[in-house]
Order: sequence, then structure tokens, then C-alpha cells
Amino acid sequence: MALGSNQRHPRHGSPSAILRAALDEVRRRNCRIDVVSPTVRSRPIGPSQRVYCNSAALVSTDLEPRALLEELQAVETLFGRRRQGQRWRSRTLDLDIILWSGGWWGDHSLVIPHPEFRNRDFVLGPAARIAGHWRDPLSGLTVRQLHYRLAKGLTRSPPPPR
Ligand code: ATP
Ligand code: CA
Ligand code: CA
Repeated sequence: MALGSNQRHPRHGSPSAILRAALDEVRRRNCRIDVVSPTVRSRPIGPSQRVYCNSAALVSTDLEPRALLEELQAVETLFGRRRQGQRWRSRTLDLDIILWSGGWWGDHSLVIPHPEFRNRDFVLGPAARIAGHWRDPLSGLTVRQLHYRLAKGLTRSPPPPR
């Protein structure tokens, strides 16, 4: 799972505090958090102006991927995330499923591996710290290899259809 925040929360405070509190909430929803990466800061993409705070966590759960996404979206909502229109807008909390031990998932509301993760340093960096040997079923490359290639500018995968 990838975590992101670029807005303060009136109660939880800074984006990094929000990410910590969000992990506590995810733990309460039939999920075990096995490992959490260090947090990185990155410049925003899209129309929002603020610096992003990102991390990654390894989640073990009996929930199937769609049920997990619903729980993650409930946590986003708990932190005041409003889902309306524009993607990449400024938001208190974003929780994405990046890879899954079961391989692929694809339906109208959920695609795993996350379609953009190969192109995002702020996802691959933290993920490489905790799941470097996990393999992307699409490219056959490990997270560490994907991170290395992105850092070297070797690849930029075209976005798959959503
Ligand atoms: P991006 O998906 O490019 O990181 P975003 O996280 O800002 O952008 P959101 O507005 O949070 O996009 O999510 C848009 C929709 O993406 C969600 O409603 C969800 O149904 C869908 N989605 C598809 N695949 C995934 C995934 N692997 N993890 C989380 N959401 C996903
Ligand atoms: Ca996202
Ligand atoms: Ca998201």
C-alpha cells in the first residue's frame, strides 16, 4: 500500500502525523501492518501546490482486494478526504494498493498493480525499502529494479487504460 498526504489535518496535524494516524486506522480494519517505510517528501504533480509526504506499508489481510480498497477509502473519508472530480488535487490522505501477493486484479474500480506505480519515484522509493524483492507481474521486474530503472531514466511506461 502507498500512503500520501499533502494537507494538514486540524486534529492530527502535519502530513507525516496523518500518515501515522492513518496506519493506526488501517490496523483497526482487519489488516496487519507488517512493515512501514521511511517517509519521503516530494514535489506535487497536478494542480495542487503543496509538498507531498509519502510512504509505503506492507499489509497482511484476509480481505479480498476490493474489500480492502473499500476499507482504505473509508479511512480516507475519515481523514476528511472529499472525493469529487479532479484527481491529484490537494488532499489530506491518499491510500493506494500498489501490488498484491495474488498477482493481478482488474475491474472498473480497482487495478492492481497500480497503473502508474512504475513511473513514480515517490511510490517506488518507499516501496523498495520494504518490498524490494516483490515482483511486478506485468514487467517481471522487482520493485528494486523498477526503482533503479526509473532513477536512471531508462523507462517511462505509457499509462495503461483505466
Ligand atoms: P492515482 O490513481 O493516479 O494515484 P489518485 O490516487 O489521486 O490518482 P483517486 O482519486 O484517489 O486517484 O482514485 C481514483 C479511483 O482509482 C478510486 O476511486 C479507485 O476506485 C481507483 N483505483 C483503481 N485502482 C486502484 C488502486 N490500485 N488503488 C487505489 N485506487 C484505485
Ligand atoms: Ca494516488
Ligand atoms: Ca488514490
